[in-house]
Amino acid sequence: MRSQKLAERVVIIGSGPAGWAAAIYCARANLQPLVLEGAITEENRQAGTLPLGQLALTTEVENYPGFPAGNLESYLDHAIVKERRQYMVEHSKHGVSGPELMELMRQQAVNFGTRIVTDDVVKVDFSKRPFKLTSLSGKLTEAEAVIVATGARANYLGLPSEDAYKNRGVSACAVCDGALPRFRNKPLVVVGGGDSAVEEASYLSKFASRVFMVHRRDELRASKIMAGRARSNPKIEILWNSQLDEVLGNDREGVTGVKLGSTTGKSGSQHDASGVFLAIGHTPNTTFLDGQLELTDKQYIQWTTPQRTYTSVEGVFAAGDVADDYYRQAITAAGSGCMAALDAERWLAAQGIE
Ligand SMILES: Cc1cc2nc3c(=O)[nH]c(=O)nc-3n(C[C@H](O)[C@H](O)[C@H](O)COP(=O)(O)OP(=O)(O)OC[C@H]3O[C@@H](n4cnc5c(N)ncnc54)[C@H](O)[C@@H]3O)c2cc1C
Repeated sequence: MRSQKLAERVVIIGSGPAGWAAAIYCARANLQPLVLEGAITEENRQAGTLPLGQLALTTEVENYPGFPAGNLESYLDHAIVKERRQYMVEHSKHGVSGPELMELMRQQAVNFGTRIVTDDVVKVDFSKRPFKLTSLSGKLTEAEAVIVATGARANYLGLPSEDAYKNRGVSACAVCDGALPRFRNKPLVVVGGGDSAVEEASYLSKFASRVFMVHRRDELRASKIMAGRARSNPKIEILWNSQLDEVLGNDREGVTGVKLGSTTGKSGSQHDASGVFLAIGHTPNTTFLDGQLELTDKQYIQWTTPQRTYTSVEGVFAAGDVADDYYRQAITAAGSGCMAALDAERWLAAQGIE
């Protein structure tokens, strides 16, 4: 039985590919989903967590199926409502950009009846149903089922020069950006020394002329097997005991090099490079859950059943990067958003809520 106050059937928190895929599936299943897409605040801007998610922070998206290179301009004009289209930057005429793809997903969810509130969830009460969600503006929403799709954010060092060249040579995702023409046959820099740094460097070595790994210590944090992979790759050179002090570049070319400092008091160095890839981890957006869902040791939401999006609380589901620190791609996030919607729909039906 639905609660007397008529709680929402399903509320989706988050507005990346996972959130919109979940919304499209829930809406088409007549669940009339409500999406809390995040707030437009300076804090979210600085953290990279504005509505539409991480993909909205990038330029070309070349690996999301269905968008081969081409001029989408007139399609975008027709597919996206005028009020939102007018604020989008001019189409690049080269496949789909991150912001365009995210607007298309949002629009598709709206077309099937999804309602959207532009606000952050700052507090949850999952102790009993209906679940309670408090937003930044102080509004309380009740829900029979919740899909958490709040994503994660890539960690950056916080250097002004790093910020200045984001999307112009500075990236936090080799799989996403490594194959772009600007990085091909050029020297590249990877910052970090863990498994994902080695993975990023190995991936980039397929395209780059040379990959410099910048690491603060004199041995890698990566597992033995991964460290061995880095050492045996002829294109990878590890710059030990070094740290990124400045990204060098100019308006025309973007990134042109890096200035490195020494962590052992020796003199620094300078290297030519067309790209700088940060591989110093991600932070999942789970703080607002305040311990009410089981998390992994890296603070990601723990999926409790293989091949399902169930969490430690029955009726609460998780989708996308907030629960996945391994694949971290738009397509996998969208895929698990679909799974969460189907899981929520079946769970609600089992409770007699249709
Ligand atoms: C620079 C960059 C480039 C990338 N390029 C590619 C690429 O080319 N191809 C690819 O497949 N992947 C790419 N990725 C990875 C891809 O963007 C992510 O895997 C994907 O966006 C994850 O989707 P998600 O739905 O899980 O969450 P996210 O995209 O992280 O979105 C979650 C959003 O939910 C909202 N939110 C967070 N907390 C709250 C809250 N408390 N209340 C309400 N709302 C909240 C915020 O708006 C947040 O941004 C890139 C990532 C980055 C950073």
